[in-house]
Amino acid sequence: MTEEALERAAELLAGAANVVVSTGAGMSKESGIPTFRDAMEGLWARYSPQELATERGFRDQPARVWSWYAERRRQIAACEPHAGHLAVAELGRLLSGLAVVTQNIDGLHAAAGSEDVVELHGNINRFKCLDAGHPYAGEPLPFPDENTSEPPPACAVCGSPLRPDVVWFGEMLPPLAVERAWQLAENCDVMVVVGTSGTVWPAAELPFVARNNGGKVIEVNPEPSGVTEAAGLVIMRNAGEALPELVRRMERRLAGR
Ligand code: NAD
Repeated sequence: MTEEALERAAELLAGAANVVVSTGAGMSKESGIPTFRDAMEGLWARYSPQELATERGFRDQPARVWSWYAERRRQIAACEPHAGHLAVAELGRLLSGLAVVTQNIDGLHAAAGSEDVVELHGNINRFKCLDAGHPYAGEPLPFPDENTSEPPPACAVCGSPLRPDVVWFGEMLPPLAVERAWQLAENCDVMVVVGTSGTVWPAAELPFVARNNGGKVIEVNPEPSGVTEAAGLVIMRNAGEALPELVRRMERRLAGR
């Protein structure tokens, strides 16, 4: 069944003009970054997300939240894109009209060479100030130790503390990224959805937007998810295995033309 799904997916991609690859935390799992569910048992287990990933939490304990994010930045900096990220970048070179829409904040798609990446939930290596949202444009920031109580650096423009430019609970997604993601979903011929449980709104709607506008949806996920209902094709394998295989099959098809 997976073989058939891979071949049919390669056929759909080879004939498509506009392709979106929409990714979630499962995309980065094989790079060593825990998914949200894994993290609830590991990274987040000792703390409540309300303390670490809300504006209130940051205002209450800026040094603690800053050093917790620094520890996550340190972990992500030690990770590299895997074969699945590289396959998505290769797909972008084979199909000129390809965009990646990601819920991930780790920057691994760009690191792998994908050029058109829409980051719906921000990027952990970008910073802005808490009060005015002034972007930080200075030198890369160091990783203070998780147990130090060093306060976050101050904004060079207004002195307000710097925070990671990620979307915290209760916050709006960046409007331009949402607008672009919706346009891409409405206009794609094929959407490949990789490694998302399809439970975080509004990203979870994207496969349904694509399907309802005539796009074919292909899911890559070893487990059933909230996306499966929208997917015409399901490849139940890990991203690092399925995506390179998909690209190999597509290249064979393109070469045979
Ligand atoms: P999720 O943790 O809710 O779901 C992960 C999905 O990935 C599951 O359906 C799982 O079956 C699948 N999966 C696991 N291993 C896989 C693999 N090797 N290949 C393909 N699929 C695999 O993730 P979500 O839907 O992205 O939602 C979590 C939220 O947490 C998002 O808002 C995201 O921004 C954030 N988050 C980001 C990162 C990151 O930047 N890497 C990591 C953790 C959480």
